[in-house]
Amino acid sequence: MQPLQIYSVIPKLPTALQPLWELAYNVWYDWKHEIWDFFSQIDHALWQECQNNPVLFLNRLPQPTLEELAQDTFFVDRLHEIHTSLREYLTTSSEHVIFDHARTGQPVVAYFSAEYGLSHSIPIYSGGLGILAGDHLKSASDLNLPLVGIGLAYQHGYFRQYLTPDGWQQERYPVNDFEQLPMSLVQTEHGAPLLVHVPVKERSLAARVWRINVGRIALYLLDANTPENPRELRDLTSRLYGGGDEMRLQQEILLGIGGIRLLRQLDLSPDVIHLNEGHSAFAGLERIRDLMRDKGLPFEAAKEVVASSSVFTTHTPVPAGNDRFAPPMIREYFQSYSQELRLSHEAFLGLGRENPSDEHETFCMTVLALNLSRFNNGVSKRHGEVSRTMWRRNWPQYPVEDVPIGSITNGVHISSWVSRDFALLFDRYLGSNWREDPDCDRLWRQGEAIPDTELWRTHIRLKEQLVDFVRERLKQQVLARSGRPREALLAEEVLDPAVLTIGFGRRFATYKRADLLFRDTQRLIALLNDTEQPIQLIFSGKAHPRDNEGKRLIQKIVELSQSEECRHRLVFLEDYDMEIARHLLQGCDVWLNTPRPPLEACGTSGMKAAANGVLVASTLDGWWGEAYKSDNSLGWSIGRGEVYDDPEYQDFVESQIIYQLLEKDIIPLFYDRGKGNIPREWIRRMKKGLMELVPRFNAHRMVEEYAKFAYQPAHTNYHSLSSEDFQAARNLASWRLSVAEKWGSLSLRNVRAAEQSEVFVEQGIEVQAEVYLDGLSPEEVRVEIYAGPLNPEGQFIRRTTSLMTSVQVLEDGWHLYKGTTKPAESGRFGFTVRLLPHYPLAMDPHAVGLIRWAVQGK
Ligand SMILES: *Cc1c(COP(=O)(O)O)cnc(C)c1O
Repeated sequence: MQPLQIYSVIPKLPTALQPLWELAYNVWYDWKHEIWDFFSQIDHALWQECQNNPVLFLNRLPQPTLEELAQDTFFVDRLHEIHTSLREYLTTSSEHVIFDHARTGQPVVAYFSAEYGLSHSIPIYSGGLGILAGDHLKSASDLNLPLVGIGLAYQHGYFRQYLTPDGWQQERYPVNDFEQLPMSLVQTEHGAPLLVHVPVKERSLAARVWRINVGRIALYLLDANTPENPRELRDLTSRLYGGGDEMRLQQEILLGIGGIRLLRQLDLSPDVIHLNEGHSAFAGLERIRDLMRDKGLPFEAAKEVVASSSVFTTHTPVPAGNDRFAPPMIREYFQSYSQELRLSHEAFLGLGRENPSDEHETFCMTVLALNLSRFNNGVSKRHGEVSRTMWRRNWPQYPVEDVPIGSITNGVHISSWVSRDFALLFDRYLGSNWREDPDCDRLWRQGEAIPDTELWRTHIRLKEQLVDFVRERLKQQVLARSGRPREALLAEEVLDPAVLTIGFGRRFATYKRADLLFRDTQRLIALLNDTEQPIQLIFSGKAHPRDNEGKRLIQKIVELSQSEECRHRLVFLEDYDMEIARHLLQGCDVWLNTPRPPLEACGTSGMKAAANGVLVASTLDGWWGEAYKSDNSLGWSIGRGEVYDDPEYQDFVESQIIYQLLEKDIIPLFYDRGKGNIPREWIRRMKKGLMELVPRFNAHRMVEEYAKFAYQPAHTNYHSLSSEDFQAARNLASWRLSVAEKWGSLSLRNVRAAEQSEVFVEQGIEVQAEVYLDGLSPEEVRVEIYAGPLNPEGQFIRRTTSLMTSVQVLEDGWHLYKGTTKPAESGRFGFTVRLLPHYPLAMDPHAVGLIRWAVQGK
């Protein structure tokens, strides 16, 4: 039987308790421990049952409890206090210094991401990328950066994992009831749901919009599940990374194009957009279309404006991981759209191709993003290098180090990931500013003052909590799997808080190599069961639904964990998510990370571990490559970050290294107990991690870097290019076209230096060259000496560049240039000369993508 009418019944919150709604509808509760605890103290069991979702929790509190609370003056006073702190947080006037110009209250930056990890009860994330986006918003909020977030509202989110009795991963997709989550439907002024429309083939797709308050930041999520759409389109935003290519393309159209349309409909006009991964790259096209239509700009000029004010962060060091679409599909979807951009189909497709004239090349979202953004970055130093190499075809003739992709190393939002107990320690010994100012070195240096015993006791308490948590979870999962309560009871015997505990939690992607520790099971079993100095392991993670290899790996670990030899000391926890991550990262002794270099773009879980005094043992990849110290004082490295030709062999070697590290270093250090039966040296390293890693690898530092090196200059660019009704942009575009036209005829000859074969370190070498400019003025080019030490093959190992200046006009459009270069070290040294275009508003000369090198013998 179908109901005739449906209502949402909500509790009648007494007036005195009304502020509870405001607390519940702001994700601030996720990192403001007082609010979380306040909810929990109302009804701990219900708070757990509701998975710490405050909206569901309030909706389910019995009416008598509410009435009772309203009568409790202590409770009401405390509510008032907490509510006031939220209000103060939201209304503080200290806007981020980077944008202190006009305090309009308008966002300057729009941040686009396909997923967000904000809190474990809001399941619209799959892994690191989403958590990073969530942490970015949280830090932007704390820093009061004028930023707005854009994403998609997935009805089923990412899958939840459970295992069959024989350990095989199954996926389920529970429905997210948005009405019961801390998000609210955005309405028009007439009270109807606001709808955004985007074109999908000949049809128009409608999307409703949900708003989540992330502290001071508004995050808007587009949701295709609305009655205006035909049935088959309503499922478009059903799953995160679900469906095939076509669904992916449609989702990305909604995210990118729909996101920009939404901002317009909300009357928001951020100057800068930040694409967190290529999924949202269509946003750039939509901005171009707007500028063409509203300002009458030609495509090229609009593209200059958009690219100069766009920031793109790439996260995927594997070519196959980057979204690519077949040209016919793009053609089908963007037929009329490319007409609006006044582009031929081939020109349109060229925007997503490394070689625009290769008509067989697929359309790649990363290439599109690179073409439509001037601020491109990878997420660790090493990943920056990997990305420059990976995408160098986009900048032909470029030396790899000049490919304009930089790096900003990821960070984590400290208050979100640090345990309450450690937060209290920090409050006591560092002062309460560590929350606002986690990137301040001076503050973390005070960590030295935390007494060893206090730090250790706190850690042990967290470890005990972890053990309790694991036993409880394990009990539930065994019960669900086997239905036999007796088996479930065994869960109460697993793990021992006194034993060295190693945690591993992440996606079971092949390159992460969760199996490295299981290569030699006998050796592992011996370590687990050592009578004097045993270890124990907690593993957790999801394999991609189509990744059978990953699933087999999980099965292998589960099987082993059920064997008599390992039962007490090895646990696999189902359904890895932010909640499990928090427990693990706060309560382990060692956090193990084993990606195969160079495939981990950054990795962030180890940073969360460090903030909780957990020591990291990791391959030298991603962030660990820049954090690790060779004296092991901050943790251990597994190998030296090399890339082997034979991955099988590499896995073997690195698994041997782990066993050795454990046997020779980690285990003895942990069990080396001095006075008071505590491991002094271990504790010293815990502190060192707090003092040296936390101030660097946190999201405040990361967001500040984006603000300083990308948002701020992008914002300035937008203003310069839009001045005089975008005349500056038109000028830049026509300059670029004319330079591109002439570039082929430019030329260099008679490149010369003083005839001597020996020079001293730091002795200047005078270089001169004649340059043919074909009517361009010397101000429109940069002539550079490109010099540096050479390897035995005669190739540059490193290079410096020095500018040459035009000293004389020769006949027929030739100019004489001179400059000096200085070798900084002894050894073989060489130089050449190159030519780059130069235009003040184009900022980075490499952004134009044109270059010309001196040719030998001319
Ligand atoms: C931090 C985190 C990640 C990312 O961790 P990596 O080290 O980058 O693999 C993934 N999932 C969850 C739940 C996390 O908290």
